[in-house]
Amino acid sequence: MDISHIEHIGIAVKSIEETSKYYEGVLGLKCYAIEEVADQKVKTAFFKVGQTKIELLEPTAEDSTVAKFIENRGEGIHHIAFCVNGIEKCLSEVELAGLRLIDKAPRKGAEGLSIAFLHPKSTFGVLTEMCENKNK
Ligand code: ZN
Repeated sequence: MDISHIEHIGIAVKSIEETSKYYEGVLGLKCYAIEEVADQKVKTAFFKVGQTKIELLEPTAEDSTVAKFIENRGEGIHHIAFCVNGIEKCLSEVELAGLRLIDKAPRKGAEGLSIAFLHPKSTFGVLTEMCENKNK
């Protein structure tokens, strides 16, 4: 498969507002977008670090998977997202390799990216997102 770089690192937080005091106030990164992803029940905030982004994920409902993550493991790194060229081909390679997919087909994520998650049980504990920007 053709992975170009780490697109973003997803971090589960209780409050984007509180967490921004660290990322903006201390680290000096600029939040350039806040977006609600209704089907994942999260609010997201993006900070650019070179080619890679930090994506803060704040749950908007108690039954959000991010809310459950925080409940079980606390705030912290939630997933790593790779930027891939040809996400459909990538997913079929992952499936052929016998790995478990959370999304068998790409769906729409934040920033209009096509995204799909691989199950952490198949990726040594790291929830892994594959994404492709088809709008470029
Ligand atoms: Zn993500």
